[in-house]
Formats: sequence, C-alpha cells, structure tokens
Amino acid sequence: MYSIEEQQKFNALTQKLLGKSVYLALPEFIQDLRNTINYHDWRYYVLSEPVITDYDYDKLFAVLKRIESANPSLQTPDSPTQRVARGLTSEFESVQHLAAMLSLENSYNQGDLNDFDRKTKELTNTEHTEYCVEPKFDGSSIALVYENDLLVRAATRGDGTAGDDITNNAKALPSIPLRAPFSKYGIHKIEIRGEVIIQRSVFEKMNEERKRKGEKVFQNARNTASGSLRTKDPNESRARNLEAILYHISFAEDAGGNNLLKEKLVSHFHCIEILYNCGFKTPIHEMRVCQNIDDVHLFIQTWDSKRHIFNIDTDGMVVKVNSLQQQQQCGSTTHHPRWAIAYKFAAKQAHSKLLKVEFQVGRTGAVTPVAKIEPVPLAGVTISSISLHNEDFISEKDIKINDTVIVERAGEVIPYIVGVVETLRTGAEYPVDFPRQCPSCNSPLIKPDEEAVWRCDNADCPAQTEERVIHYVSKDAMDIDGCGRETVIEFIQRGYIKTIEDLYRLPYEQILGLEGWKEKSVNNLKAGIEDSKNRPLWRLLNALGIRHVGVTTSKDISNHIHSIFDLAKMSVDDLTNIEGIGPKVAQSIVGFFHNSGNTHLLEELHALGVNTINRAEDARSKNNKLEGKTFLFTGSLQQFTRDRAKQLVEENGGKLLSGVSANLNYLVVGEDAGSKLAKAQKIPSIIVLSEDDFLNMIA
Ligand code: AMP
Ligand code: ZN
Repeated sequence: MYSIEEQQKFNALTQKLLGKSVYLALPEFIQDLRNTINYHDWRYYVLSEPVITDYDYDKLFAVLKRIESANPSLQTPDSPTQRVARGLTSEFESVQHLAAMLSLENSYNQGDLNDFDRKTKELTNTEHTEYCVEPKFDGSSIALVYENDLLVRAATRGDGTAGDDITNNAKALPSIPLRAPFSKYGIHKIEIRGEVIIQRSVFEKMNEERKRKGEKVFQNARNTASGSLRTKDPNESRARNLEAILYHISFAEDAGGNNLLKEKLVSHFHCIEILYNCGFKTPIHEMRVCQNIDDVHLFIQTWDSKRHIFNIDTDGMVVKVNSLQQQQQCGSTTHHPRWAIAYKFAAKQAHSKLLKVEFQVGRTGAVTPVAKIEPVPLAGVTISSISLHNEDFISEKDIKINDTVIVERAGEVIPYIVGVVETLRTGAEYPVDFPRQCPSCNSPLIKPDEEAVWRCDNADCPAQTEERVIHYVSKDAMDIDGCGRETVIEFIQRGYIKTIEDLYRLPYEQILGLEGWKEKSVNNLKAGIEDSKNRPLWRLLNALGIRHVGVTTSKDISNHIHSIFDLAKMSVDDLTNIEGIGPKVAQSIVGFFHNSGNTHLLEELHALGVNTINRAEDARSKNNKLEGKTFLFTGSLQQFTRDRAKQLVEENGGKLLSGVSANLNYLVVGEDAGSKLAKAQKIPSIIVLSEDDFLNMIA
C-alpha cells in the first residue's frame, strides 16, 4: 500500500514524466519510471482505481521498454517489463514448498463450528479464542516466495509438499508485485499463500468475447484460472485477467534466519495487514475478527446472501484461529491445520419423488427404513436411496409415499431428506406402512420404550447374519483379506455360511468350482482367513458386533482382560470400573454374554484356532495416543535413551522420522540440540517439545 504522501508524489511524478519530450537513459530517471509504472499497476490491479488513462500508461511503459532494451545493464528484476516474459515454458520444474500446503477441514453448520471451537480451546488450553473469518476463494492456490523484497518464485500447490514452478506466469499477473517492501517489517525471506482467481464480471466478459469470436466458451472461472495459471505461455496468463489474492504467511524469516512467525508476527490479522501494506490484494475488506464462535456463525450467515453479489466465486468461508501462538499450539494433521476450518455454504438441494420405502435389517437387528427415490443428481452424484433413520423421523416429517421430497447433500456428507413439499401433493400420497414383522425372518419386531428403533430379536435371522459376517470380516474388525461384502453374500446364499464360525470351515474345493473363482483368489481367501486367527484380542471383540462396542471401546476393554472368556464372567459393575465404559455399554456386553448362542460362538471360534487372549505383543501396541503423528528426537536425552524413546513412540501408535522435513509434527529436544532444532524452527508447522512435554503427551 502506498501512503497518501507517496501517492501524491507519484501522481506528480507521472505528470512530470508524461510532460517530457526527451528521455535520457539515466539510472535515476529509469528508476523513477519503473516505480511510477509499478504504482499505477497497483492502482489499477489492486485498488481498481486508476488515475491515468490507458494511453498514458502505455506511453510510459513503451519508454521504459525502449530504454531498457537499448541499455540491458539498466534492467532490474522488479522492472514491470519483466512481467512480459519471453518464450514458452516447456515443462514446469517441481519445487519444494517452504512449509506444507495443506487442505482444510470442512464444516457445515453451527454444531460443527462449536466442535471446532471446543477442540481449539482444548488444544490451546484457553478459555478464549479469537477467530478471523474470511471468504474461501474458489480458484487455484499459489505460493509466492520473496527474498530481499524481490519475487523469486511462484509455485502451484501440487501435492502439498512440492508444486510446479510457475514463476514466469505469476510475473505476468499485474496484481502480484515483483518487489514488495517486506524488509520494512524486518522480513528477509517470506513465503505467502493465496488464490488465483478470475473475477466473475471479467469471466463473463471474457466468455462473451469468445462467443463473439466463435471460440469455445470456458466452463467456469475456477477451472479457467487454474488452467491459465499453468499455461506454457505466460502471456496467456496475463490475457486471461488472472488475479492473486493473498491470505496467508506460511514462512517468514529475518536476515539472521529467525522464524518471525514465532517472534514478531502475532496474529493472522497482523499478517494480512502486512500483505496489504506491501501492496497485495488481500481479503482485508471482507474479513472480520470475532471474539467467539457465535459471532463467527453470525458473520458467516451475513455472507451467505452477500456471496451472490460478491464479484469472486466463493464456496464458503474460512475460520482461522487469530493468534499465531495459538495456531502453533493447535498444530496440523498431515491433511489440514487444526487451527482453521472451512465452512461450506448451504447444502445443495434437489426435489425428487419418493417411490417406496424398503426396510433393512442391520447386524444388531435394528430395522432401518430406506427411501427409494427417483434418481436425482446432486452435488456431483446421483442419489436414489436415502436412509430415513426410524419411524419417528418419518412421522415427524410427515413423509408419505409419492410425496415430493427435498433432498439435501452438503459436500461429501451423506444425503438426507429435509422434508416434503406439501403444496405439491396430489392426493396420490399414502402413509409409509412400518412393518411389525422382520422383513427377513418374519419374527415379531420389538421396540424398547426408551428407543426409537424397532428390532428383530431372532439370533438366527438371515439378514442379521449377513450383516454380522460382513462386519466380522471388515477392516476395523478381523480385517480378512480377500473376503468382502459380495463374497459373504454369495457364500450365505449358497449355504456355505450360516453363522460366523462357518468362515473357518469353508468348502474350498467347491468354491474353486464357482464362476469367478480361480486358484489364486481361493488361496488368497484361505490365507486371509487363516491370518485372521492371529488377530489381537480387541479386533475379535469389535468383530463380535456387540451393540455400542466399537474400536475404541474394544481397545479399552481388551487392555483389562486376559481372555475373551473373562468378559463373560464380568458384571455391569466390574465393567463400569473400566475407564471409558459407561452403564449402557456394560449392559449391552452383559446382555450379549447372557445369550448362549453367543458364548457358543466364542467357544467354537476358540476351538477353530481363533486367538481369544490378550497377548503381550498386542498389549504393547495398545495405545494410539500418537496415531498419525511423526516424531524426531535430537540433542542428548536426559530422561530416556534413544531406543526407549523410539519404543514409546511406536507403542503409542506414532511414527519416527529420520530427519527434519515438513512431514515432521514434533521435534523432541534434549540438551545441546543443534542443527536439527535450527532447521525445525524454520518450519512453522513443526512443534518443538521438551522431554517432559513428550512424556506428558503419552502419560
Ligand atoms: P480444500 O482444497 O477444499 O480442502 O480447501 C483448501 C484450499 O482452500 C486451500 O488450499 C486454499 O487454496 C483454498 N482457500 C481459498 N480461500 C482460502 C482462505 N481464505 N484461506 C485459506 N485457504 C483458502
Ligand atoms: Zn429377522
């Protein structure tokens, strides 16, 4: 940004330059000319408030070009003439980002925002978190690196770690300053992130123009932006009227190599101010700092309608923890920062007709009504089948067969029925008839008072068996390779499987004779099933499909028992003594073992060789506190040896890395830490821990 005085100075200088009839190739004069043109670029492309005519601008530009080409030694890298690159790029080189370029987690409603707020407060251990909210620009992301105030590199996001070097194309975008006064802020080297977009009105004009010329029109602004950013001809990038909006400083260092994101830069808003003051387009006029999550939600709502008249495509808002210190405390997963979340605007809706309702029996006997609707495309997929949850859901929404239903789907979320359009009723609608008998085995359904769900209580119900076996072999349970849903259904239909234990007595010779089965696939299946005899106890526990007992509960429980048969002897009180187990879960477990069919199943599995005990080697990997996190130890450790440290990380589900990189989450430092620490401090996403911090993490 130029101060008022600077603006006055350049306006006067412009008049002086335009008034000249002779231009001398003097360095000071050329510098004036360059600075003046850069100033007008800023007025035009960043502020959209030009103060000279295109004709005068072109005149100044032509003079500069002429003098520079006659005197190449007077050319500088920040000269506006450098934006017009020569020649084509043959192939983009891949370059490493200075900090990983991650995705954003999505949220869709106030509840999601509240969860986010709760988590950030937990992670930062504070009562109060300030948030910055700004539009999520729908374009193509870009990372710019400036060194000594000069643009030295521009890259696309790529895979997040490395992207394509598109420096020449970026230089062609007039809204990206070739020189930016970061040194005013003590910044020597900086990486900034943003989005390259095409304004809506510009895009429409462009398409009109193409239509007029008989050229193919572009589909949408976003794809056009990302395509144009990667064209081989930088002049194309310029011609497509791309603009860059910068919204993040991902790396900032002073001349001494100190990480300014940890020292001088205090908040996201502060970062945006710096970018704004350095002459970039930023969301500064669209953003707001909110003191609490309710304000965040309110502000987002005001944007929900505003976005339609906003000249840039947005598909949501981004909520960011304002304090950089708190951002660091939150850290990141390998996929997204934990200090930011995208809020996706109102789900897309569609109308369709409810053709019929089918009833599915789950593995615990719960009967779920499923709406079959006329197939309708929505947010990228075609929807024909939607869960109606339970009888209450149907009666609350007064959903009838033949009704026009409103279907909604937000992002990747499962579609659901918002309600029906009563005004479109024709009289052909009739109520959904909820069965009182199991659609699979005809047993009478029962519904405990406190529950919304009807169930089939027949342990031999074929539909339940199917779901139970499918659950048993699934990834989170026994994880049986070569045996998926389709296989289970086929084997049940052929009568090979009547109960879970039949999995271990499959007639392989017969299977080999079936269509689609070859020696290799049968061997695979056999190996997968043999392998499953050797799973840790928690997997078996989860695989049994006891209501309310999932992966986490199974792990909690299996740490407290020696054998699965111990569970059969435990009372509700015994069970609730285990941390993480409440009365509902305990009741359900006791109930499960009351059923002689279930105890028989376990005895059979045991006799067939399936592991039923808690083995020492499994116990070691009992914890997943550090799951998905990466660690590195450096310096001389005082409280444990390197080997022990490694063991602790692995036992808790974490992973060790051998060097400092953007993939590293935590660096644990002992005494006299050296170069690794220095290197880690330059990567903002890495959290540095003391040995005590580390021990606390796993305590
Ligand atoms: P997604 O790729 O959908 O997970 O969303 C993450 C992407 O949103 C980032 O990589 C950015 O390119 C983009 N984005 C757009 N506007 C913003 C913004 N204001 N702050 C952060 N990211 C944004
Ligand atoms: Zn049944």
